[in-house]
Amino acid sequence: MPETRPAPLSEASRQALIAVRDSAYAPYSRHPVGALLVAESGQHYLGCNVESANFKGLCAEAGAISAMIAQGEREIATLYVIGPGEHLCTPCGDCRQRIREFATPETVIVVLDGNGAPLRHYTMEQLLPDSFGPENLPPS
Ligand SMILES: [Zn+2]
Repeated sequence: MPETRPAPLSEASRQALIAVRDSAYAPYSRHPVGALLVAESGQHYLGCNVESANFKGLCAEAGAISAMIAQGEREIATLYVIGPGEHLCTPCGDCRQRIREFATPETVIVVLDGNGAPLRHYTMEQLLPDSFGPENLPPS
């Protein structure tokens, strides 16, 4: 079994995560979400949800992954997700597949409460068991 203890979130990172959550554009759902992605390099990437009037918004996790990819990185070490309140704000199904694309067996996904305190953490296999991935496709 891979080690699944999440890396501790520094106070500065907790504050950055709360700030990016509070920057979310979520006028329709009123459910702001922030994501802080720690790549394999140790570099941090932030994302927040961005909604639109046609109800096809972008999730916070997707924004953080896009920022990571834009910098040429491809592996998620730890992904922290913060919602607006005390309830679990786990990644949606779409995001689970998106995270899975860049996850390793050691990747940890940490769901925080509204103040940035960890509520639960998961491996990718726990969030998306028996998932479909690049190895399920024929070699090119
Ligand atoms: Zn999502």
